Amino acid sequence: MTHVVCPGSFDPPTLGHLDIVRRAAQLFDRVTVAVLINPDKSGLFTVDERLELLRVAGSGWANVTVDSFDGLLVDYCRRNSIDAIVKGLRAVSDFEYELQMAQMNSGLAGIDTVFIPASPEHSFLSSSLVKQVARYGGDVSALLPAQVTTALARKLGR
Ligand code: ADP
Repeated sequence: MTHVVCPGSFDPPTLGHLDIVRRAAQLFDRVTVAVLINPDKSGLFTVDERLELLRVAGSGWANVTVDSFDGLLVDYCRRNSIDAIVKGLRAVSDFEYELQMAQMNSGLAGIDTVFIPASPEHSFLSSSLVKQVARYGGDVSALLPAQVTTALARKLGR
């Protein structure tokens, strides 16, 4: 059985994230979506809120579970018998950093990273851009699961 992890901030989850998780769930036996707890960056949504949004969005996928982690991703992988890391690649600009991380993780723990190319309709999409547009009143509903759109509007006091 191949167990992979899709790590990230997911602040908040977008349709781009979910597209990668869905495709990973078709390729591998088990997928854990792991929200990074970053003590230096609180984010717009709390980690618990992100976990709940991911649980609702991924509720239809039987082999997907949601969790959070702090510290090194490779230590989380070791503790949970995870075989590989799955990352989405949006553009060449993602690649350089992701390649460095993949090589570091492989060197640290022998854990490989599998890259899944973003779908073209999501290649410009990031959580930070969504938050920026939403803060100025832009309509981001086409880029997010419905429950995330609602939660984001509530967060921003709309
Ligand atoms: P961001 O804040 O940039 O959205 P995250 O840390 O939450 O990033 O991203 C977690 C993972 O999801 C990363 O592998 C990232 O490349 C991937 N990802 C983020 N947005 C997209 C997208 N629109 N399409 C494909 N993959 C994505």
